[in-house]
Amino acid sequence: MSLLSWRERLTIPTYDNEEYATTGRLFIDHELCNGCGVCAQICPGKAIEIRGEGREKKAYLEEVFPQCMSCNDCAAICERDAVTAAVAYDFGYYFKKLNRGEFRKPVPY
Ligand code: SF4
Ligand code: SF4
Repeated sequence: MSLLSWRERLTIPTYDNEEYATTGRLFIDHELCNGCGVCAQICPGKAIEIRGEGREKKAYLEEVFPQCMSCNDCAAICERDAVTAAVAYDFGYYFKKLNRGEFRKPVPY
């Protein structure tokens, strides 16, 4: 049996819509960032690098070819609210794993 109704299925974002597919438009506030590196670890595009040492250790969006797809995972997981993405996803939506199983609600962090 399906976990989602047809109405809920219609609310699933369309990933080929440019509004949801902007890349590399991410602001990291280095006043707030402490360089913990969690965002870099979970970034599916490996688009975040941690540079510097000690107090100067900060997260940076990779500059040469940022493979950021604005998934907002980094903004969601940063405990210091240091990341702002240009396109803010509504995390109340449902997500699907491509061609793998049923639609499911995102799990809370
Ligand atoms: S999770 Fe937040 S505080 Fe940690 S490195 Fe990333 S932006 Fe900085
Ligand atoms: S929005 Fe997603 S893809 Fe872009 S830097 Fe953050 S975690 Fe990586």
